[in-house]
Amino acid sequence: MTTTQELPRFRAALNHLVSYRPEPPALSPEGRSYALAANETPFGALPEVARAVEQAVAGVHRYPDNAGRALTAELAQRFGIAPEGIALGCGSVGVAQQLVTAVAGPGDEVLYARPSFEAYPLLTRLAGATPVEVPLREGTHDLAAMAERVTDRTRLVFVCNPNNPTGTAVGRTALEEFLARVPGSCLVVLDEAYHEYVRATDVPDGLSLLTGRPHLVVLRTFSKAYGLAGLRIGYAAGHPEVIGTLRKAYLPYSAGSVAQAAAIAALRSGDEVARRTDVITAERARVAAALGERGWRVPASEANFLWLPLGERAAAFGAHCASAGVSVRAVAGSGVRVTLGLPADNDAFLAAALTFPPA
Ligand SMILES: *Cc1c(COP(=O)(O)O)cnc(C)c1O
Repeated sequence: MTTTQELPRFRAALNHLVSYRPEPPALSPEGRSYALAANETPFGALPEVARAVEQAVAGVHRYPDNAGRALTAELAQRFGIAPEGIALGCGSVGVAQQLVTAVAGPGDEVLYARPSFEAYPLLTRLAGATPVEVPLREGTHDLAAMAERVTDRTRLVFVCNPNNPTGTAVGRTALEEFLARVPGSCLVVLDEAYHEYVRATDVPDGLSLLTGRPHLVVLRTFSKAYGLAGLRIGYAAGHPEVIGTLRKAYLPYSAGSVAQAAAIAALRSGDEVARRTDVITAERARVAAALGERGWRVPASEANFLWLPLGERAAAFGAHCASAGVSVRAVAGSGVRVTLGLPADNDAFLAAALTFPPA
């Protein structure tokens, strides 16, 4: 609806933005629906999480612990890092927003790959900063080209490892060389949202890179392998002084009490999380092989999704899947990302993919 009345004025930065649109649920003619668009776990809430949530509900009339002490202590103990080096947030996107707003404003640059996580341009624009995008090379982060693009205006570099939407991951040596090339005044944010799905042995655990690199911050989330996407909780790990400053950018109470309790229970369910991620990584190999046999080229994925680099046919492929009840994430003109679900979900996807008419 348009109006002739005067409307409030917004920042020009918002002209570059459209509101985030998740993939709508798809429905097959038989009424079936397969949610393979958002990289969620198909297994439902962990049993211990369900119990913890039920208990935590009794206390929701109180504000959460703003410092998240219990969860921070659990993380610190589990991963062998100092509690002062951990900051919680409203999803890891919330933490990423704190990081961007803490270091970048108008005139500053934020660097990341293309295609990479859809939230990076949004957070950069919201901060009033300038996005600088460096194309992937052969489907993988081109860290050498990214290092070339760092200038004295670059305040933050996102490295998404494994990368969303391609699933590709960079190895330890390339990452260490990159970290050595980026000046200490520029923050490097290693987004490890899919860390629990990594099986390649040369892909480093970002936490093991923190020592001696105060410009590195590792982002982790409970939304993916731990299955807490609906509760919104994630965290950053880094140098205690950097994390201390980051905490000033924290929107008070944005990591809720139920989410904090659920995250502790999820961490204590490590064996079940490992069992679930093993099912998904086995499915990853099976689906990639089935696609390969039919001549589809998919990059090697270390995450819980596969990327089909379909270029101009991406949107048509997405629509074709949706008509079979399979919702996938189509990036128009680029490719399609499909989440790995339970075997039956993946079979529904494969059936759809293999009936997509060849170009
Ligand atoms: C899903 C995802 C996240 C997680 O976001 P939350 O806010 O924690 O739900 C972060 N980074 C990447 C690259 C992702 O794909």
